[in-house]
Amino acid sequence: MIGEEGQGLKLALSTLNVGRIVVAAQALGIALCAYREAARFAAARQTFGRSIIDHQGIGFMLADAATQFSAARMLTYEAARAYDEGRDVSTLGAMAKLFASEASHKICDDAMQILAGRGYVKPNVVERCYRDQRITEIYEGTSEIQRLVIARAVKRSADTLS
Ligand SMILES: Cc1cc2nc3c(=O)[nH]c(=O)nc-3n(C[C@H](O)[C@H](O)[C@H](O)COP(=O)(O)OP(=O)(O)OC[C@H]3O[C@@H](n4cnc5c(N)ncnc54)[C@H](O)[C@@H]3O)c2cc1C
Repeated sequence: MIGEEGQGLKLALSTLNVGRIVVAAQALGIALCAYREAARFAAARQTFGRSIIDHQGIGFMLADAATQFSAARMLTYEAARAYDEGRDVSTLGAMAKLFASEASHKICDDAMQILAGRGYVKPNVVERCYRDQRITEIYEGTSEIQRLVIARAVKRSADTLS
């Protein structure tokens, strides 16, 4: 017998809470890898007499990637800290996973766009990041399920919102 009788579902669901923070961290690691590769490439690759990062269309993608990455990392650290302090992370963990995995999706997608043909063909680290990132929006609960969890928490707290 693991745990107490009748508490099985609760126990199983509680493992998801920490698992979601771990997946958020995984999504961040993949995003960082794709972002670094794209930033290095964009600074080095020249077209029309300048680095492609100096073309606004590419520079803005990297500015957004840096911003999204920082925001996702802060949310993930907040959830991890709350878990370490023994607090309830059911909502915060769902938020961290949802935000980090979707930020990672955008960052990897833009990284491939920046590397263009070089990012699409194997072997290329961005191609690998692009594939690996996708699962972070699916396992330990899909993005739709994270939104469901968060929406329920919003409903529970609706009466106390000022
Ligand atoms: C590589 C890999 C490793 C995995 N590892 C594990 C593991 O170690 N342990 C484990 O337990 N599971 C694991 N899984 C399973 C994973 O958790 C499930 O794939 C995931 O929970 C989604 O379930 P499903 O694939 O059955 O999709 P479904 O539940 O069939 O969902 C299909 C679609 O409907 C949407 N949907 C379903 N219900 C709702 C709803 N109420 N509201 C809105 N949208 C909804 C989903 O978001 C999704 O878009 C793994 C999966 C993969 C691919």
